[in-house]
Amino acid sequence: MDSVLVSACLRGVPCRFDGRDKASSEVDAAVAGRDVVSFCPEAAGGLPTPRRPAELVGGDGHDVLDGRARVVEDTGRDVTAEFVAGAHRALAAARAGGCTEALLMPRSPSCGRGAVYDGSFGGELVAGDGVTAALFARNGITVRSAPEESSPSGA
Ligand code: SF4
Repeated sequence: MDSVLVSACLRGVPCRFDGRDKASSEVDAAVAGRDVVSFCPEAAGGLPTPRRPAELVGGDGHDVLDGRARVVEDTGRDVTAEFVAGAHRALAAARAGGCTEALLMPRSPSCGRGAVYDGSFGGELVAGDGVTAALFARNGITVRSAPEESSPSGA
């Protein structure tokens, strides 16, 4: 089955931390003709929309999965458990939908692939993956970062 999991915000779902979406005609074109599973790990993890921006602190999503790093909101509230739960629910949705590939929102602490914000809430990027992107990569799902202009942290 030619299915792909796509970050729900890229498909027009207003699930970002700021209550907006990031609908993209480029993303729509990239997945045209394929079966699409739209999914938001942060919402699935139990976080409300809108919500405070969150960043990875002490490492990237792989480090979070290994218990060496955390996800915190700009208030200092620890939301690691919600991010990890959402990542596992995203993996379950990908498997249920027969997805071997994911097209995810850049720079997000959940969906980012290859670059994420550094935990300072200062807009600086570091190399690394978001929590869901990391879990997908560990479980044989090919993760691509969607073409997008820059966005605020905490997506
Ligand atoms: Fe949800 Fe954020 Fe991923 Fe968009 S980037 S699907 S809002 S977790």
